[in-house]
Amino acid sequence: MIALVAALVVSACGGDDPQAEAGAPDEQADVASADAATVEAGTPEEAAAILIGCESTVADGVPAFYSSYFRCTDIALDGDHVVITGTNLPPHLSYYYGEDNAQFEAFDFSRSDEYRPNPNQIAEQMFVIRVPIDPVATGVTIDEDTVNLDTGDATDYPFGAAGVALDGVALFNPLAAPGDDIEDERFTFDSNEGHPQQQGAYHYHAVAIGPLAVLQSLGLSTSMTPGEAEIELYGVMCDGTVALGAAELDGSAVETELDLQAGHVHDLVDGAGTVLLEDRYHVHMAPSIGVEPRGLTPEAQYYSTCDVTAR
Ligand SMILES: [Zn+2]
Ligand SMILES: [Zn+2]
Repeated sequence: MIALVAALVVSACGGDDPQAEAGAPDEQADVASADAATVEAGTPEEAAAILIGCESTVADGVPAFYSSYFRCTDIALDGDHVVITGTNLPPHLSYYYGEDNAQFEAFDFSRSDEYRPNPNQIAEQMFVIRVPIDPVATGVTIDEDTVNLDTGDATDYPFGAAGVALDGVALFNPLAAPGDDIEDERFTFDSNEGHPQQQGAYHYHAVAIGPLAVLQSLGLSTSMTPGEAEIELYGVMCDGTVALGAAELDGSAVETELDLQAGHVHDLVDGAGTVLLEDRYHVHMAPSIGVEPRGLTPEAQYYSTCDVTAR
């Protein structure tokens, strides 16, 4: 995806060049949502040009953590759960939409010669995730028995959709299907760091561009490069565990100790100093942080429930 890469290079340099182009006009032909060629890097408009078909509704009473950051889904309240409903169609370009789809882009083989697409194609889903507002810890011990990238541990998040990203895409646990290795499977990720499984369910296992595009579209950051955005929030797991990136939710540095899946517990505070989630377990998905930095979703489920419907 040449257009995105060009934009990222500009923003990565902290450039504020009004001449900066997100891509040549012919590369933007199938991006109908904005005239990206005239959009400045780092602006909400640049991110909005990447987000395609992102429609959101937020019901009254939804906790500010969800209403402030989550988009491209319908968010409602049901008793002591936040219910997030969507189609799980990624609101950005993907090779995996297939050539006949307006959101198709060619697979990017330029990343390394290990990259190759898988044979699956994106399919729409009925995707509902019910996240507890006050999750209850299971008391799981986070150690090499529970965080090891091996399948079959009783403490692992379930296979399939186990969380939702800010852009409405399913988050999967960091494990490849038995017999496969995520560190090899990640070479099938598209330019936005996602891929579909056999039934067409698109998902992220790792840091991704779409959630950062949502934050930039909201004016909360000026970069869609993982590790470089002022605020990096990727999504929430089904049990209430939050998936952050290299920094805390208010943009400050990660200062207290992290466990084996780069997680810890403290209040999550927004940029204005408001506590949005008290004493909340969260992981810092970032290739640069933690005991064994992987930039992957959490493996061991910290809180007690995981209620997801995806079919
Ligand atoms: Zn996968
Ligand atoms: Zn933290």
